[in-house]
Amino acid sequence: MFVCSDPGSHHQLYWIRHKHFSFDAQLAIDWGTCAAGMQALQPARRRWIAKHASSNCGVGTTLVKWKYQDDDRCPRCGVPEDTTHVLRCTAKGANEVWNESILKLTAYLQKTHTHPGIQESLLTNLHRWRHGAFLSLIHI
Ligand SMILES: [Zn+2]
Repeated sequence: MFVCSDPGSHHQLYWIRHKHFSFDAQLAIDWGTCAAGMQALQPARRRWIAKHASSNCGVGTTLVKWKYQDDDRCPRCGVPEDTTHVLRCTAKGANEVWNESILKLTAYLQKTHTHPGIQESLLTNLHRWRHGAFLSLIHI
């Protein structure tokens, strides 16, 4: 995924237009750090992120839109499957993958001595986002 750090670039406006975040949120994002982070990833991982974030991948809603299948249901739980649902699905197998990933992230944050307030904010808000709750601001 190409991440442009120029404020108001057409790449950033794409994400606003497709309701991935608000215009106000765009101003709060550290685009330079995002761009550097993306460049540090292997090309295959960058490609996966771009496809997943833009919903151009093999999830139910996209496969129906592309006319590759007739229903958009999640094979694990039966609700409409979009890219957000893939991460929020609470079916048994999905919960195990999520929990394992959170444990890996927690270990990484501790190993890299990430500020405890940032750790708490990140992990709390990932949990809240997964369960559809509003994100909370934690002041460090
Ligand atoms: Zn599901």
